[in-house]
Amino acid sequence: MSAEPIEQWEPRGPAQLRAVADRMGAQLADATAYEVLDWAASEFGEGLAVASSMADAVLPHLASRALPGVDVLFLDTGYHFEETLHTRDEVARQLQVRMLNIEPVRSVPQQDAEFGTDLFGRDPSACCRMRKIEPLAAALQGYEAWATGLRRSDSAARASTATVAWDERHAMVKVNPIVAWTDEQVADYVAEHDVPVNPLVEHGYPSIGCGPCTLRPLLTGDARSGRWAGFAKTECGLHS
Ligand code: SF4
Repeated sequence: MSAEPIEQWEPRGPAQLRAVADRMGAQLADATAYEVLDWAASEFGEGLAVASSMADAVLPHLASRALPGVDVLFLDTGYHFEETLHTRDEVARQLQVRMLNIEPVRSVPQQDAEFGTDLFGRDPSACCRMRKIEPLAAALQGYEAWATGLRRSDSAARASTATVAWDERHAMVKVNPIVAWTDEQVADYVAEHDVPVNPLVEHGYPSIGCGPCTLRPLLTGDARSGRWAGFAKTECGLHS
């Protein structure tokens, strides 16, 4: 007896996904993180990826409860703090997720050889493009939606972020389940569920990126003001 051919899962096209984003963006505008992730898990299944910077594991934890084994994407730029890599490893060890370590095309020595050392200090946008933006775009291919831990309270630039939206750049649905959460809600969730947190948070870094581009916040009330200090740049470009 011959076996039935296994049906290959194929992502839906942009037009269908945009319609989903438009419809559910309105419907879930004020939904809780649990409602958003329950919907995303049933709507997208294995077509959902979670991006995490490993400041904490709140989003991977929430997503893994809605969709055990969910893919978690970590952009390993080659410039991360040891504490961030440790947090990534703890998340992979403790949570029901599939951790995918996403690396740039060029290693740091290869980038140095081609573009000069410490490109981040001369042209951080080019460095972010090669080490974050392009690798993420490549990693997201084949998914229908990605979930991020963006919060409106992160910075003024994120104050109007939607819960569910169409992501034009990646031609997929973008889901921001904890967009309305306050710092207190994050802290309460961490305490209640004992999820891994980057040790740097305790040392005064509420927003953690690459080592060379992350200082403690310079301005009270703006968690991202320590990123790319000395440059007008405030976002790596992943969310624009
Ligand atoms: Fe390069 Fe800094 Fe961007 Fe990291 S955050 S990719 S080191 S410019």
